[in-house]
Amino acid sequence: MTEELFREDATLLSCEATVVAVDETGIVLDRSVFYPLGGGQAGDAGELLLADGHRIAITDTRKHKERPGDIAHMPAPDSDLSALVPGTRVTARVDEARRQAHRRFHTATHLLCALIPHPVDGCSITQGYARLDFHMAEPLDKETLTAGIARYVAAAHPVRQRWISEDELDANPGLVRSMSVQPPRGLGRIRVIEIEGVDLQPCGGTHVGNTVEIGRVVVTKIEKKSAMTRRVVLGFAEPAAG
Ligand SMILES: [Zn+2]
Repeated sequence: MTEELFREDATLLSCEATVVAVDETGIVLDRSVFYPLGGGQAGDAGELLLADGHRIAITDTRKHKERPGDIAHMPAPDSDLSALVPGTRVTARVDEARRQAHRRFHTATHLLCALIPHPVDGCSITQGYARLDFHMAEPLDKETLTAGIARYVAAAHPVRQRWISEDELDANPGLVRSMSVQPPRGLGRIRVIEIEGVDLQPCGGTHVGNTVEIGRVVVTKIEKKSAMTRRVVLGFAEPAAG
């Protein structure tokens, strides 16, 4: 079971960790700052550094297929993994530009949920773009949505995460402005992301701490995927931050 440091602090870019296992899925650590693909958000990339200076490039991160709770760091195909055995100490460091793009796009998708009050039935967040599919028949306007996002960004709304009990969620259905994903039940508590005054929804991804950090995100495309699906694609107005 990998300790998920990214859940409590999305600004944390590196950590010390110990190798637990190395198998065909990837390198499993006892703790990690790497977010694994999930909830529509792409996995982190980065590198593992060994004490002797050896570096192993990590191209993606996944939840381990056979071992629930373990996070697998996927090495670049040509990597020399001979020095990695259980017990090896490493420094795990995520690619900052990719993480930052994910945080900005991910938080921007929450703003879209606030602007478009319809259920979401698909989501993909990558370094280069984000897209959200809304279950709706009405047309959407690119410029109106881009202006709506810019308004929330300029207003600098704090973004907070907290845990609420299932009872609290049940007692306050109005608390959740846009329930795009049904939260996992049975754990007793649910992690929610609150954009103060804008949006509240259960979410496990990585977000910025204030909407102003999203910067200039624009709607690049709106597609009618089916009679009841409108796809909204987001991009950065400037080249991806390096
Ligand atoms: Zn989120």
